[in-house]
Amino acid sequence: MTHPALRDRSCPLCGSRDAAPEVRSRRRAELRTVDELRPFWFGIDKERRFFTYHRCRDCGLLYNRVFFDDAQLGALYGAMPPNMDLVPDAAIVATQRGYFEAVAARTSLTGGYLELGPDVGHVVAEAATHGSFDSFWLFEPNRASMIGCASRPRGARPGSSPT
Ligand SMILES: [Zn+2]
Repeated sequence: MTHPALRDRSCPLCGSRDAAPEVRSRRRAELRTVDELRPFWFGIDKERRFFTYHRCRDCGLLYNRVFFDDAQLGALYGAMPPNMDLVPDAAIVATQRGYFEAVAARTSLTGGYLELGPDVGHVVAEAATHGSFDSFWLFEPNRASMIGCASRPRGARPGSSPT
């Protein structure tokens, strides 16, 4: 039985309600309250507990049929510590530089820059240093990350939060 505070969604691609469960964690997230799920949302090194993935029988999309609603997501993201606080800084910088270099090899590094979820801003700092962007658009729902990100590149502005 799904917890009543969680949202039971139609297929986000075709709108069908006909979907079958396909991948689930040993302990199913949809049976818990939002408060019980909060530690799993915040931690990247804890037990894996996730909402069951369903396969839409009409279009084949694999998605989480049961999930948080917009208000719950806003509250969860808004209270989340920066993800990268849990990993050594040198590893983060190297990983983020690799992400930037992979993308940079396929683009001109000009025009507008858009990043969704920049966390504390490692990738956008690389973009500001190595690119010639006219403007930067960063959308970070995690307010704690947004504060650190705002001080990163010259000319980059933090995006607004849904909360
Ligand atoms: Zn569908």
